Amino acid sequence: MEKFNNGAPYHGSDYVTHGKLKGSTDETDYFYFFCPTCNDNEVLRILDYGVHAKESIKQYNAQCKSNAIYGFTLVFKLYCEKCGYNDFIKISNTGRQGGNFK
Ligand SMILES: [Zn+2]
Repeated sequence: MEKFNNGAPYHGSDYVTHGKLKGSTDETDYFYFFCPTCNDNEVLRILDYGVHAKESIKQYNAQCKSNAIYGFTLVFKLYCEKCGYNDFIKISNTGRQGGNFK
C-alpha cells in the first residue's frame, strides 16, 4: 500500500487556514473546493487522499447528543489546474468541531 504524499510531510499552507479556503456543492451532493488564489471559484482537483488518523471516539461521543462510529481524520491533496496552486486540507470528526466562521 502506497503512503499518502509518498511518505513526505504534509500540512496545509496559510492559503487554507483562517477561513480562506471556500467550497460548495452544485446540483449534486458532491462538495467542491475553490482555489484560494483564483478569483472565479475555480474548482480544485483532489489528487490524492489518505487516512491521517483513525481512532476511538468515545471521549467525543460523551460530549455530544450523537454517536459517531469511530473517529477519523482524512487528508486531501488539492491542485488548481488553472494556476498550479497545490495544498493539503484535512477533514475530521475528532478534536475541535467548530471555529470562528464569518
Ligand atoms: Zn487557481
